[in-house]
Amino acid sequence: MDCVFCKIAAGEIPSTAVYQDELAYAFGDINPKAPVHILVIPREHIGSLDEAGVGHRTLLGHLMRAAAEIARKKGLAKGYRVVVNTGDEGGRTVDHLHLHLMGGRQMTWPPG
Ligand code: AMP
Ligand code: ZN
Repeated sequence: MDCVFCKIAAGEIPSTAVYQDELAYAFGDINPKAPVHILVIPREHIGSLDEAGVGHRTLLGHLMRAAAEIARKKGLAKGYRVVVNTGDEGGRTVDHLHLHLMGGRQMTWPPG
């Protein structure tokens, strides 16, 4: 499969790893939109949140916990945002499920 994030998780495309375990991999976004902008992905290829099944519930929780752990290690005590863009109208550009962890500046609401 020709998936850029699968290749990143496998180490075939370079990335700045910030966290990894048997289920998840996290790395710096190449085009950061905040002082801290990290992508948390499952090692398993899941195309999007919409494609995640009941069998992925534990994995989805694992990714959320990993994001919170990274945020703490990055010193984001004042807060942060976790975003999952899904589908065309959701603004998704890469078809491998990923959580955006963003922090280090005041976020606004609603997002664009
Ligand atoms: P989304 O638009 O929600 O699908 O997010 C995809 C994100 O992946 C964007 O923020 C991109 O900047 C980021 N991205 C794409 N290719 C790479 C790469 N090779 N390394 C790191 N981040 C990437
Ligand atoms: Zn993939």
